[in-house]
Amino acid sequence: MLKCREVTRLLTLETEQPLNAYRQVAVTLHLAICHNCRRHRRQLRQMRDWLDQEAQHEVAQADHTLSAEARQRIAEQLKTPKK
Ligand SMILES: [Zn+2]
Repeated sequence: MLKCREVTRLLTLETEQPLNAYRQVAVTLHLAICHNCRRHRRQLRQMRDWLDQEAQHEVAQADHTLSAEARQRIAEQLKTPKK
């Protein structure tokens, strides 16, 4: 049986690449009996979803609100020295 520390590490790894079948099973088994690691996984997923949403939101904002005029204004602001 995996230890919590190993499971935590694998769950973090899982956010970047899929686990192999053996690790998947080992983690699933551990999660079935370990409340703390289930909570940790939930938090990781919430964090990832939130980051995805934020990233999409920012892209959408940039597409829709940054007109040529807005870019011009920003460029002007950047050129103007701060008082
Ligand atoms: Zn655990």
